[in-house]
Amino acid sequence: SVSLYSVAVVTGSNKGIGLAIVRALCKQFNGDVYVTSRDVGRGEEAVKTLNSEGLKPKFHQLDINDLNSIKNAAAYFKGKYDGVDILINNAGTAFKASDTTPFGVQAEVTLRTNFFATRDVLTHFLPLVKAGGRVVNVSSMLSASGLKQCSPELQQRFHSEDITEDELVVLMQRFVDEAKKGEHKQGGWPDMSYAVSKIGVTVLSMIHARHLSKERPKDGILINACCPGWVRTEIAAPGAPKSPDEGAITPVYLALLAPGATEPHGKYVSDKEVQPW
Ligand code: NDP
Repeated sequence: SVSLYSVAVVTGSNKGIGLAIVRALCKQFNGDVYVTSRDVGRGEEAVKTLNSEGLKPKFHQLDINDLNSIKNAAAYFKGKYDGVDILINNAGTAFKASDTTPFGVQAEVTLRTNFFATRDVLTHFLPLVKAGGRVVNVSSMLSASGLKQCSPELQQRFHSEDITEDELVVLMQRFVDEAKKGEHKQGGWPDMSYAVSKIGVTVLSMIHARHLSKERPKDGILINACCPGWVRTEIAAPGAPKSPDEGAITPVYLALLAPGATEPHGKYVSDKEVQPW
């Protein structure tokens, strides 16, 4: 069965940058655009907000920390649209700098959502991405600065073209395990769980790009990681320079790369420019 409709799915889009991404896609993308949220009430509120602006997004529940929720959503998009055209992995979390939760717990919670759950979404959704599809993983500039603070050995692995998904998962888990024992600095890691989680997101995007180029060379799918910039949301300080709509610009640019485009692919992008990694 071939679906006539194109579809874009944005994780964690009940507020913040994700909501702004849905707003922009509703205006610029010729297809159905989905708000997804772990909480149905918050998701429906977001849809109402956009309705009041004359926009007509759809809604589906998606908690990226819940494997059943991921599988249900994947089955829904497979059934209704025969796959997805645009997937934006935006859902993420960060502890405030002032939070006194022990570092090991922060490491576990931050990595669970930002890296491991994002990876679970990719595992279940990448096979559904249609030819010509676009996948955008919202990372952070802190992935690039965090990388520079890693040991030379870790930097070499995160730069390498031959790192596998399995190796990346082992390294991310090693960070969590060492953080719990207070040994992450000896292990060569920066003292920032959020930065490490986003190193994982950036490197995972590059690994998947290499896979897609090898396994589905004719499908022209482009996958990239990006930084939205410093954006005034719950995650960042209120003094951040960008509005959520401004933060959505680079993710939306990557989601709407023209049909037939071959780049960027497997890159880390901010302000619509490929950045060094
Ligand atoms: P917000 O806190 O405003 O939004 C985060 C969104 O992610 C919320 O919708 C939240 O839902 C959702 N979310 C969190 N955990 C889950 C989960 N398990 N399942 C589904 N959704 C979840 O922050 P931002 O809009 O700023 O963040 C969006 C992305 O941008 C994140 O990946 C963040 O790391 C990244 N980023 C942000 C920067 C900034 O300056 N703001 C800078 C660089 C990167 P809920 O309402 O239910 O909590």
